[in-house]
Amino acid sequence: MKLTGREKSSLILEGVITVILLILLDVAILGIIQDIIQTNPGVNSGIFMIKQSLKIGPMQAQIWSYQRIVIFFLVLINVWVVWWRLRRRYHLYQMNHIIGELHYIAQGHLDHRIPFRLKGSEQHVISSVNALVDSAVRSMNDERKIEKSKDELITNVSHDLRTPLTSIIGYLGLIEDKQYRNEEDILKYTHIAYRKAKQMKNLVEDLFEYTKVQQHGAPVNIMRVDLNQLLEQLTASFALEAEKRGIEISSKVIPNPLMIEADPEKLGRVFNNLVANAFKYGNGASYVRITAHQEGTNVIVTVANDGIPIPKKSLNHLFERFYRAEASRSRATGGTGLGLAIVKSIVNLHHGKVSVTSDEHETAFQVTLPLKQASDK
Ligand code: ATP
Ligand code: MG
Repeated sequence: MKLTGREKSSLILEGVITVILLILLDVAILGIIQDIIQTNPGVNSGIFMIKQSLKIGPMQAQIWSYQRIVIFFLVLINVWVVWWRLRRRYHLYQMNHIIGELHYIAQGHLDHRIPFRLKGSEQHVISSVNALVDSAVRSMNDERKIEKSKDELITNVSHDLRTPLTSIIGYLGLIEDKQYRNEEDILKYTHIAYRKAKQMKNLVEDLFEYTKVQQHGAPVNIMRVDLNQLLEQLTASFALEAEKRGIEISSKVIPNPLMIEADPEKLGRVFNNLVANAFKYGNGASYVRITAHQEGTNVIVTVANDGIPIPKKSLNHLFERFYRAEASRSRATGGTGLGLAIVKSIVNLHHGKVSVTSDEHETAFQVTLPLKQASDK
């Protein structure tokens, strides 16, 4: 830290004034001592006797005179007082500099940090201030990101709601204006409006689910779950659709039973989304295989299907909300692109991870979950 010219001169002035005051004080003290000795014969003769007894060497040299000793101690005290006052003043200037920097930062210069280093406790103050500004800036950036992502969410939702709503209004408008030729037309229009309304309901439900699991500290109802049972029930619920499409669906859990701590409802949603995707997008697929096995303190569940692979460039984006690979966007599968974002959020709530691989043989989603959940969570 560099002192300003004004601070330097005031420091020198303080030193000079202190020295002058101390010299005056010393002279007064010396005068008083002299006076006491001279007016007091007892003290005078005592000093003389001590002097006599302390003569040493062949020359009988006198090693002390009381004035010298008093002056020696006074000088020591003076030096200490001057040093103490200057040091105190210097600390005051340091604090002023720190406060000045703080004001500068508080005025909105959040990229500024206190640039100088000091010794001792002042450095603690500087480090703490800098760390505080760092964390404030970090949380402001996080806040901004959340804000931006909420705006994007609203934009996406409005867009995705407007598209089916426009169709619904369009087709119902045709009926309202009696622009149909026969009953068949009416049925056709209401059917389209009904399909679009269902699409909207799916989006709203997905959105509700997504915001629920996205929330910080979203409630998870952890209990012991038999994974084998859960996956078998899931397989059974897709059996009819699998038969219709000529796809073989199977689940295999090793060891059996495999008990894990999880929220059964949310976990069911995860695998339901993955299997539903496998059916919906596994173009030309002949099987959907669900396997689970224990690996150390984790369980790894894989949902795999064959068929056309997912393009490499899409793989990194699949878990982003509203992301749909190009091929599925144009198809009438009616997805909202929230399914995998929900999967990821639920897996995160269980302190696990989810990943995807896809090549010409197979597309596989792998969910890794801890067998036990930390009790404080
Ligand atoms: P939602 O699940 O909300 O109804 P969605 O299925 O389109 O909509 P996600 O489940 O998030 O959304 O899937 C995102 C995209 O990932 C899908 O649109 C699809 O392109 C791709 N995808 C997901 N699973 C598979 C799969 N098994 N095979 C091929 N592509 C897949
Ligand atoms: Mg989906």
